Amino acid sequence: MTLEEINYQIYDCKKCRLWQNAKHGVPGEGPLNAKVMLVGQNPGADEDELGRPFVGRAGKFLTKTLAEFGIRREDLFITNIVKHVSPENRKPFADEVTACLPYLVTQISIIKPEIIVLLGASAKETPRVEGIEYITVIHPSAAMRFTNMREKFRQQIAILAKRLRKN
Ligand code: URA
Repeated sequence: MTLEEINYQIYDCKKCRLWQNAKHGVPGEGPLNAKVMLVGQNPGADEDELGRPFVGRAGKFLTKTLAEFGIRREDLFITNIVKHVSPENRKPFADEVTACLPYLVTQISIIKPEIIVLLGASAKETPRVEGIEYITVIHPSAAMRFTNMREKFRQQIAILAKRLRKN
């Protein structure tokens, strides 16, 4: 299975109800040899519109914060647990997560990242694979809104940057 093949499966996916409300499946993006994978919950309206992950306000904030600490977004693989937007941006239901998780499992097995960064508690269902380091950070949309969380998020990204420089 290649990343391109998974992408096409996601574009055509009707395994749960979410496709009915969506314009695009959002598989994620990034290089095949990415050392770091970022995982969010599911795409929002901007991501649905463009078919790309983390391109709305929270995504821009995330990209900017990564860059401040010398991490280039283009070097990371960025995706979500659930690949379609949900109605009114509600939290995906358990059966939607279950239906979608095999895509993430396959993406992880192809990319074999060294580190998976879980963006917020909502990414907690990300499958755990032995040998991969998991780091949980505050979700960028919360970090963007609340000053105290923003500072904590910046510290977490600084730690990630330091960890990457050790490679
Ligand atoms: N929030 C997420 O969790 N994922 C996105 O792709 C965008 C916003």
